Amino acid sequence: MSKTLSFPPVYKHEFQQASENLRQSLLLANRHKTPITPVNYAVWYEYVSGDNQALMNSIDTRLKKNEAITSEVTQYLYEKYVLMGMPERLNNTNNGLKLVVDNTLENLSKVEATASQCSQGLMQSQAQLETCNDIDELKTLVNQILINTQQISSSSGELKSELTRSTEEIMKLRQELESVKEMARTDSLTGLLNRGAFDNELQYLCSKGYSFSLVLFDIDNFKRLNDSFGHLLGDKVLQFFASLLKNQCNDIHLAARFGGEEMAMIFMHSSLEETFMITESIREKFSESRLKKKGSNESIGQVTVSAGISSYQDKDSPISLIERADQALYRSKTGGRNQVNFI
Ligand code: GH3
Ligand code: MG
Ligand code: MG
Repeated sequence: MSKTLSFPPVYKHEFQQASENLRQSLLLANRHKTPITPVNYAVWYEYVSGDNQALMNSIDTRLKKNEAITSEVTQYLYEKYVLMGMPERLNNTNNGLKLVVDNTLENLSKVEATASQCSQGLMQSQAQLETCNDIDELKTLVNQILINTQQISSSSGELKSELTRSTEEIMKLRQELESVKEMARTDSLTGLLNRGAFDNELQYLCSKGYSFSLVLFDIDNFKRLNDSFGHLLGDKVLQFFASLLKNQCNDIHLAARFGGEEMAMIFMHSSLEETFMITESIREKFSESRLKKKGSNESIGQVTVSAGISSYQDKDSPISLIERADQALYRSKTGGRNQVNFI
């Protein structure tokens, strides 16, 4: 198992793989003469694990230009590619909200000051009215009252438009927060749910005991495809496969990037047999799609996927459910790939 892009990062490497990543990370940190701080280690770990394509591209580009990977560089890479820019976005949203609240409070206190000034003026006019019997004096009083009332009305008018502006600003910030929240659930390459979000969904469904089926997909011989046509084309294949899964999703069925070239789906209220039919149709469509290299007519040959299905049974945990789907997937692999099995 690997790591999928999510914030916060979730690592699913097995012990042996993690140890090997550790060994290679230490070598690289040493070679670039950077201390083994958590940030440097995280960046090199992600680099050697091969799961964070954007980070790998960024480092490889620097290495090709013989640029040093200093601690400043790793700090930048860490924030951008490991934390996926989240702290900065949250910070911006936070600052934005602070500004709106400060501004609104300031406007309210301005209006408050004007209102109290005007009400003092009006009280004075009220007292004068009691004793006033001169026309000219009355005229002056009326003018004074008018000025005071206009002041209140204009300052509350200003407040109204300020409040409208604040509301618009708050709506924008709310949208930004929504998109940050969505991004934290989404795998950036495929647009499917990421592993963290998927695990949460699975945990929730098991805790409720809902009836559903789980499918694990693993693209066949994907390493060979990468080696023959390059990682970028590999990415395109992952995106294409993800689009086939998205076509089967609706309000209740879910699709996720489970890890590297592994995807998962949850079919709500679907039996093993029903899920098998849909999974078979996805497998068939994928194996029949003749994908071509970008900008050329050259086919990359047949690409296939294997799948394993399990259905929720009483007292299943996410782990037991995944284990059964994984066993079924293993059968598909050992049975010759490009097939679907269920347990
Ligand atoms: P099998 O049929 O047994 O599943 O063989 P496989 O080659 O698909 O499996 P293996 O686990 O050996 O290789 C998976 C490869 O997937 C290795 C890794 O570099 C690649 N991979 C993982 N994530 C990505 C990604 O985001 N983009 C690309 N292009 N490749 C990825
Ligand atoms: Mg795999
Ligand atoms: Mg594979």
